[in-house]
Amino acid sequence: MTDLTRLTAAQTAAAVASGETSAVEVAQAHLDRIGAVDEKVHAFLHVDTEGALKAAKAVDDKRAAGEKLGPLAGVPLALKDIFTTKGIPTTVGSKMLEGWIPPYDATLTARLKQAGIVILGKTNMDEFAMGSSTENSAYGPTGNPWDLTRIPGGSGGGSSAALASFQAPLAIGTDTGGSIRQPAAVTGTVGVKPTYGGVSRYGMVAFSSSLDQGGPCARTVLDAALLHEVIAGYDPMDSTSIDAPVPPVVEAARNGDVRGLRVGVIKEFAGEGYQAGVMERFNESVELLRELGAEVVELSCPSFEYALAAYYLIAPSECSSNLARFDGLRYGLRVGDDGTRSAEDVTALTREAGFGPEVKRRIMLGTYALSSGYYDAYYGSAQKVRTLISRDFERSFQQVDVVISPTTPTTAFPIGERADDPMAMYLADLCTIPANLAGNAAMSVPCGLASEDGLPVGLQIIAPAMADDRLYRVGAAVEAAFTARWGHPLLEEAPIL
Ligand code: GLN
Repeated sequence: MTDLTRLTAAQTAAAVASGETSAVEVAQAHLDRIGAVDEKVHAFLHVDTEGALKAAKAVDDKRAAGEKLGPLAGVPLALKDIFTTKGIPTTVGSKMLEGWIPPYDATLTARLKQAGIVILGKTNMDEFAMGSSTENSAYGPTGNPWDLTRIPGGSGGGSSAALASFQAPLAIGTDTGGSIRQPAAVTGTVGVKPTYGGVSRYGMVAFSSSLDQGGPCARTVLDAALLHEVIAGYDPMDSTSIDAPVPPVVEAARNGDVRGLRVGVIKEFAGEGYQAGVMERFNESVELLRELGAEVVELSCPSFEYALAAYYLIAPSECSSNLARFDGLRYGLRVGDDGTRSAEDVTALTREAGFGPEVKRRIMLGTYALSSGYYDAYYGSAQKVRTLISRDFERSFQQVDVVISPTTPTTAFPIGERADDPMAMYLADLCTIPANLAGNAAMSVPCGLASEDGLPVGLQIIAPAMADDRLYRVGAAVEAAFTARWGHPLLEEAPIL
């Protein structure tokens, strides 16, 4: 019998639709897999066995009644614990929201349910999505299925690890500075940050609102596209949601023809700090695209040098404001409310106990950068850099259709290695941050294993805003060509499977 956990989402949906298998059987197979491996991996913070089986049964009933099923009906999914789920805990990886049960569904959650996608549970993440390793979770780290002593990326390491350990064929992430793409890169999976405003942020706990973007994660480019189509589109509940048709991502993922496509290689994304094996795989991808008929052009984006610095002013500034709502009075944790203390004291005690060190660091940094007398020097300057980065992209996209780079400078590092060194941790997002600052669409797709450590490397593809379909076209081409060359999907080489 086929192992249902090894199928792609597209294959699973087809098997459910044809009656070859039932959605309940599929859900049960994944719940069993979670039971067998997640003690080691720790991808999930909460598994909703009952809810998953109920949702799966509803899909089977619908089919039995002769109703038409959506393209991903009956396919299980791992949901990052940053999206609200009615009746199911949402912690954002923080003690601050331990035990909080949201009274409503995020728009994204509601769309998943409406599509008949089966939510298996909520995945581990760096607290409030701040981090690149999932070590900042208040609930302990997640292991990388390729090597459990290494990080699965972050902040969405639970989602990427769930995919790479075959606990779910689909997952959801959020990307403020790289938290979908970097975890995808280091686990050999596919992750897409849609155009800013492409997927609703309503019900997605805010970190840095002008950068935050939810998006699809999967093991194949087509699966990511199918999920993208379900979650994307205008939402009146989100004031920054784009009121325009969703780019034709599924069509592009099925097409995968890059002949005549102009591909830009940014020369600043190389040099010191880039692992040799990562650059080897990247250069091989450039060659591959050339062989497939793309035209490769070298570009310079001088302002990208300042992207990381600008990000670490803008993101903390916005977070210092967004996280002010966690005051111990409205929801979640409350510490010291013994009838003798003032509300102010209770708030201070709650925030002291509820936030971890990285979150506190950022709140302090952001509060400082926004304070009067420093605002122009820090926050104001960072916003100017942001404009320069957008201009560099605009200039580039006059010459090319997409831009490519390594997704991350290195492969997965050992758990603990950068935990006490915030600067080293921040460098993991060197290549991903510019697309957040400019609001572009970007993807990470597997492009092989680094020769020195045998760990996965990701190729980043960046497209102009609202041209998300180009990511899928290029991603599908790269995926098909490499899979043919390797003789199998990259994940089949992952040792613990
Ligand atoms: N690693 C980056 C940070 O720590 C990005 C996080 C994210 O995209 N959510 O802020």
